[in-house]
Amino acid sequence: MAEHHPLFKDLSGIVGESNVIDDPVLLAAYSQDASLLPPHYPELVVRPGSVEEVVEVVKLANRTKTPVIPTGGRASMCGASLPLKGGITLDLTRLNRVVNVDEANLKATVECGITWGALLYELAKVGYEPCFKGPYSGHAATVGGSISSNTIGLGSAKWGQAGDTVVSLEVVLPTGEVLRTGTAANPRAPPYLRYVVGPDLTGIFCGDHGIFGVKTKATIKIQPLPKAIGYSSFGFSDLVSAVKAFWEIQRTQLAEDMVILCDRKSIEQILPEAPQVFEGVEALFVFIVQAPDEGVCSAIKSYLDSLAINCGGRDLGEMFPKTFWESKYEMITPLFEWGMWTATCHALPTLKIPEATREAITLFKEYRVDELGMNYIATAMACGSNAVSYVAHTYFDPSDPEKRKIAEEIWTRRKRRVFEYGACPYWTGVGWYKEAVEYMSHEWHEALKKLKRALDPNNVMNPGAFEIWEV
Ligand SMILES: Cc1cc2nc3c(=O)[nH]c(=O)nc-3n(C[C@H](O)[C@H](O)[C@H](O)COP(=O)(O)OP(=O)(O)OC[C@H]3O[C@@H](n4cnc5c(N)ncnc54)[C@H](O)[C@@H]3O)c2cc1C
Repeated sequence: MAEHHPLFKDLSGIVGESNVIDDPVLLAAYSQDASLLPPHYPELVVRPGSVEEVVEVVKLANRTKTPVIPTGGRASMCGASLPLKGGITLDLTRLNRVVNVDEANLKATVECGITWGALLYELAKVGYEPCFKGPYSGHAATVGGSISSNTIGLGSAKWGQAGDTVVSLEVVLPTGEVLRTGTAANPRAPPYLRYVVGPDLTGIFCGDHGIFGVKTKATIKIQPLPKAIGYSSFGFSDLVSAVKAFWEIQRTQLAEDMVILCDRKSIEQILPEAPQVFEGVEALFVFIVQAPDEGVCSAIKSYLDSLAINCGGRDLGEMFPKTFWESKYEMITPLFEWGMWTATCHALPTLKIPEATREAITLFKEYRVDELGMNYIATAMACGSNAVSYVAHTYFDPSDPEKRKIAEEIWTRRKRRVFEYGACPYWTGVGWYKEAVEYMSHEWHEALKKLKRALDPNNVMNPGAFEIWEV
């Protein structure tokens, strides 16, 4: 029988033997995410069941200088959850309870390993839903993973990114202390507000990829389940008019969610029946209105519909948006049938969608992706009143070396162009850290390193992320 890892016994003493994995076959499952980046193997996977166990694991890692990477659903698309320096992958998915639903303050405190799918289900039982409802990967993705990677997703039109609806975090710091942020930093106060007493400590853990600690609990904004939902979709003969209408509606912040498909091919890919149904439509968008009663819902929907119609929009009915909203996390996973994705999702000012689309499609044409039979999509989802998560990527069969090479070349070029045309990715990862550090300011990277040095003197937490190899 193969020898166990030298830390196996100590870790088993903390979390129980059945929650420590050092079998190479099982470790392989933790060596990749939802991208085709080369695998990085952890030496061990540890699955803690409480914050106390997380503390003990982190302390042991410090004593032995063992790297630790916290992970949730491992649904990252650019290698964020890959253990660059081996060590321990700390799988947080056993921490998956709803701890408290605070109806008076409209907040829920949850353990960070809960998936968005499970969270929606649990909150619905008591008549609520999270305001930000997670990414499209919400059956796998966790609340902790999404906060740690600045996720944009369902509900972002009204509520912004994952971190925007967080009021308090419980974080096991890299040296093992347990920090509570927001009002909960007062041991006598519950978590109900974020910006109190001093600077916003919650913020440094949003988008940190776990380099500043392990999030164990999050308190997030919730709202009562809507009593009425309105669904709209509008088609346009050109993208510029579509974006103008989209922006007019977005900036009211009355829609819960908004998604735009930016060219005819993308429409036909997503809706194969489009040639018959949506003749002459070169771009379309959907939006969702949620309200406490039918009257409010229909008043808001009529007003927003009129903005679309004033910009030349043709009403395409409610079937497509209704299917989209009801299927939520099942909506885009089937696109893996087209092959793997080379995602370059990034935050873009809404009014720059036409320019970004022109550029992406010109690049796809340069590589003759159409003639090669490769699919692509150009789409965007609203984030707050002014920006979108912009997505334009190709799909490819990974077993076809020619198409894979083309898709990877396009990916490499697009990652750089995103920064060059004045945008920023919101989630990154191993496949994007180099470009991020090259294009973000020197001062940005230095400040990150200083914080890292102060909080994690042994650089045990996710070393190598954001190109921080030494502190
Ligand atoms: C089909 C599909 C659809 C997707 N749709 C979207 C989308 O709509 N929007 C979007 O933004 N992204 C999307 N993604 C990318 C990704 O799934 C999301 O960003 C998701 O929020 C990641 O959550 P996770 O639990 O899988 O995190 P993981 O991949 O496990 O981790 C992500 C990062 O967070 C860190 N981390 C995880 N948990 C913790 C914790 N508790 N404490 C500290 N650090 C932690 C990890 O170290 C890693 O750096 C999609 C991916 C797929 C495959």
